[in-house]
Amino acid sequence: MKDKCGIVGISSNLGKNVSSFVYYGLYALQHRGQESAGIATFDGSKMHSHIEMGLLTDAFKDFDFNFLPGNKAIGHVRYSTTGDSKLENSQPFLTTLNGENIAIAHNGDIINSSSLRDELITEGYKFASDTDSEVLFYLIKREHKKTNDFILTIERVVEKIVGSYSIVILIYDKLYAVRDPAGMKPLAIAKINQDHIIASETVAFDVLGADHIRDVEPGEIVYFKGNEIKSHKVKIADSIKNAHCAFEYVYFARPDSIMDGQDVYKTRLNIGEHLYEEYKIDADIVVPVPDSSIPVAIGYSRASKIPYAEGLIKNRYVGRTFIMPTQEERSIYVKLKLNPVKSEIKGKKIILIDDSIVRGTTSQSLVKILKEFGAKEIHMLIGCPPIISPCYYGISMASKKELIAANNTISQIKEKLGVETLGYLSIESLVDSIGISFDELCLGCINEDYPTDIKK
Ligand code: SF4
Repeated sequence: MKDKCGIVGISSNLGKNVSSFVYYGLYALQHRGQESAGIATFDGSKMHSHIEMGLLTDAFKDFDFNFLPGNKAIGHVRYSTTGDSKLENSQPFLTTLNGENIAIAHNGDIINSSSLRDELITEGYKFASDTDSEVLFYLIKREHKKTNDFILTIERVVEKIVGSYSIVILIYDKLYAVRDPAGMKPLAIAKINQDHIIASETVAFDVLGADHIRDVEPGEIVYFKGNEIKSHKVKIADSIKNAHCAFEYVYFARPDSIMDGQDVYKTRLNIGEHLYEEYKIDADIVVPVPDSSIPVAIGYSRASKIPYAEGLIKNRYVGRTFIMPTQEERSIYVKLKLNPVKSEIKGKKIILIDDSIVRGTTSQSLVKILKEFGAKEIHMLIGCPPIISPCYYGISMASKKELIAANNTISQIKEKLGVETLGYLSIESLVDSIGISFDELCLGCINEDYPTDIKK
């Protein structure tokens, strides 16, 4: 599973260059997108930008941040779900609006973007990319012509788009941020001295030594005037409820982030404790599939008193997945990425904890490898309920026919994986672990109850 993008925005009153601070903030969000990275700044008279393909460190290799002057800046790391992975689709997007410079960076998926795109093309707008972010861009342009007011413009755009999004926009010398009316994608605000920072996750604030003030609320437009945070709430239809993505807590977010008031690490410990309440298994060790399952395994180990063991070591230098047509190649790839520690595994009854199962191919290879290394029994516990349906909101998962739990019973999956036990966390326990009420979470890929109308 891959998330789509991380964003950072900084508004400073101190007249200093902030581009390198945006860079460090993005560095903390690299897990949200590894395909391209970019920063745009405004220096008081014009916009500057640097956008390249690759990891942040590649995109900004030997880069001199003096070439990105300005005390207002936004940045983006990208993983593509709408639009190909190419430079033209990378962000921030830049253009001019009535002579004023504008840059926009976006996390999420606008699910009605193709009809809006057709509408805009009919009206004469010419697209340079195939992303939904450019659709946003031209909507802003169109609505601004009618309103001549940026807050009203953003409000009108929010009324027209459907989907998940968190956006930072730099218009001339002002930084704006907006979060979708259901709050599906995270977005938070922090302060350091006279400067305000906006970011997808609070880890970006920790790196910069900034104090997390609060989250941007669902449907809220935030901007900064001097030392003050200004807020404008978009009118939200009664039918739209909060729907924070449950998978941010299970898998995507860094465990050291706080999201919508919830500590992600604590959530994962809770998941481990709940797994123990639901599955009491006689075993020798609890082993996580690193990294996101580590706190889950610690939670299970603490609750069960079964020792925690690092039975799998992750190679942190294995990058993007490549096409592996044969099972043998898939096994090599899994071993490259996760290698068992023979002395911990051999002859042991293992509780293997993973955060989720999507297609099942990685789990299948992993179980095979652990058995080859001498594991006596493998009891696999999953820190979320079965994923039975795709995500339409910017999480690249798989199609319904590829999802193992959409097409097999749990006992069939257990058979395919070759494990002694297979246990998924219940929805009730997941919701309880996160600490946000059932009605305020998106669980669409688990229960097919999506927060917006979708065309399947
Ligand atoms: S469908 Fe699943 S992955 Fe997508 S936003 Fe909802 S909970 Fe998150």
